Formats: sequence, structure tokens, C-alpha cells
Amino acid sequence: MHRKRLAWSLGLCLLAGASLWVLWVSVQNWLPVSYLPYYLPCPEVFNMKLQYKGQKPFQPVAQSQYPQPKLLLEHRPTELLTLTPWLAPIVSEGTFDPELLQHIYQPLNLTIGVTVFAMGKYTRFVQRFLESAEKFFMRGYRVHYYVFTHDPAAIPRVPLGPGRHLSVIPTQGHSHWEEISMRRMEAISRHIAGRAHGEVDYLFCLDVDMVFRNPWGPETLGDLVAAIHPGYYAVPRQQFPYERRPVSTAFVADGEGDFYYGGAVFGGQLARLYEFTRGCHMAILADKANGIMAAWQEESHLNRRFISHKPSKVLSPEYLWDDRKPQPPSLKLIRFSTLDKDGGWLRN
Ligand code: UDP
Ligand code: MN
Repeated sequence: MHRKRLAWSLGLCLLAGASLWVLWVSVQNWLPVSYLPYYLPCPEVFNMKLQYKGQKPFQPVAQSQYPQPKLLLEHRPTELLTLTPWLAPIVSEGTFDPELLQHIYQPLNLTIGVTVFAMGKYTRFVQRFLESAEKFFMRGYRVHYYVFTHDPAAIPRVPLGPGRHLSVIPTQGHSHWEEISMRRMEAISRHIAGRAHGEVDYLFCLDVDMVFRNPWGPETLGDLVAAIHPGYYAVPRQQFPYERRPVSTAFVADGEGDFYYGGAVFGGQLARLYEFTRGCHMAILADKANGIMAAWQEESHLNRRFISHKPSKVLSPEYLWDDRKPQPPSLKLIRFSTLDKDGGWLRN
């Protein structure tokens, strides 16, 4: 009798212990993440990542600690870097096998989205952009162009190949070009959340005052894709035009930074791109609340974010060139290039 009672009590103790342990584990899983109010217009908040219990708040990394990529370009201008220090490929002609990529990507039946903004006088660039994209952009894949404009009637009906679509997205106009270009992050993030996530697998966000000149294929697809700015690919990092005022959320300290990326080309897989554009938009809003505009508007914010959220693929300046610059020997071909806008007439 006595033994039986003892066994019962022991069993009960074990059961109670096990339940307490289960309770403790679930409470632990539930507790440690405390979300920061992401929308607060407070610059410090935007430089922080999610804070985990017991972890020190985010501190900007001192110059000596920050990994310094050894840009071959800084020393030997003819050699192109093919891998970033965080092992993301830097895509340029000769670094990939188009035939092999075709075999891998074609059966996936992907749809690639493109957003372009054509506000005000920039509607006149749409025709050339689309015609050249039909010739060179993701040939043989399904493509969905999203043209954001205040004036849908001004968008030309360019004949599109099979499996290629165009949607015109009516968008509110703004009088200042800075405002137009900064609003893109907001519009893109909303568009991904509301529509594009159900329609496309990857999305590229491109400037409209550009033209495709050579094939742009699946070698460009990746989770988060950035393009090296044609004006800074051979320039020492100290000269990158990052936002240098600490009061801006786009602030980049002296020792920070990898490459200077262009705001005219970025892309990726939809969920990653949503996070990216939303993060940039929030940072822009925070600056606005503080009465600041970053040195190069949304490009500054894009560069800031790519430092803490590294792109998984980097496109060489082949994918973002500028017609006003002579083609250097290290650049085998130009795939996508800015048209000469002929000074300031468009913006005025
Ligand atoms: N944009 C526009 N209308 C404007 C100004 C800008 O549609 O009045 C859009 C357009 O897609 C353009 C992009 O914002 O390509 C970035 O502006 P812009 O090309 O003038 O900047 P830049 O490339 O010269 O830095
Ligand atoms: Mn442009």
C-alpha cells in the first residue's frame, strides 16, 4: 500500500515537472523578441535591428572592425571583382554560362516583373524603354511590366511578345522630381503587397530614362539584387557619395560601405524586395519627419540599407551604365544604359 502511494506521488511529481518544463519552454519561445515600433520617426530606431533579450543595442561598427572589401579595381583597373566579400556573385559577361542558366531557369516557368515610373515629362521615355526591353530583357520568359504614371493615356501601346504583359498603374503626381523619385519606394512596396506578389516571382525596379542594348537574362535573378553605380565602380570608397550627416537615417560612417549602388536598378524575390522597399520608405519617412532629405534621395537610403542587408547578387556596371561616359575596356558590353537627358530641361 505504502509503496503504491509512493509510486503515485513520484509519477505525479514527474508529470508536474514535465508540464512546468513545457510551460517554461513555450514561455521562453514566446518572450525573447520584443519588436521596436518601426514607424517611429526616430533616426536611432532605424539603425537598429530587432532586439533580442540580453543582446546589446546596435552600435555602428568602428572603422577598424568593419570588413574592408579589397576592391581589385582600386589597384588594377583592368581586373573586375567577381565575388563580394560576403560571397555574392558580381555578374558580368564571362562570369556565367547563358546556356546552362537557360536549362535551369526555363523549366521553372517564372514570371519576371518590372516596375518603371513615368511621371510628368518622363512618359516620353516609355516607348524606347519598352521597345528595347522587348528586344533584350528576359527573352523567352514571361514578363509583366508595371508602368506607374499620372497619365495612363500618355503610355504608348508597344507591341509585346507572347507571355509578356503590360499594366498601367495610375499614380498620383508630385510637382518636385525629388518627391517623385523618393515616392517610388512607397509605391513599390504597396504594389508588391497588394498585387505583384500574386503575379510575379521576381521583380526589377528600373529607371525609365534608360534603354536596353544587350541581353539581360536569368543571370540577374536573385533574392536581393543591387547594381554597381557606373560613376563609382572604380572610385575609392572614401569618395562614395553616401549620406554623411548622422542625423539622417541614411547615414553611413566613414569606414562603412561596400560598393556604391545605383538607385536606377534593384530587384529581387518578392518577399525580400517588399522588406527592402518598405525599409527604405520608412527611413525616408523618418528623415522627412525630421526635415531632412538625404544627399541622393532614395539612392542614399538604398545604399544605407544594402550595407546592413547585403544583396545576394550584385550586377556589374554592364547592367547600369551611363551613355554620357565612354565605355572602358574592362566593360565587355553595355546591357542597360541611361539616356542623355540633355541637362535640366526635364526636371524643370
Ligand atoms: N521620374 C519621373 N518623373 C520625373 C522624375 C523622375 O517619372 O519627373 C522617375 C523616372 O522613372 C526616373 C526616376 O524617377 O527614371 C529617377 O529620376 P531620374 O532618372 O531623373 O534620376 P537620375 O537617374 O537622373 O538620378
Ligand atoms: Mn534615371
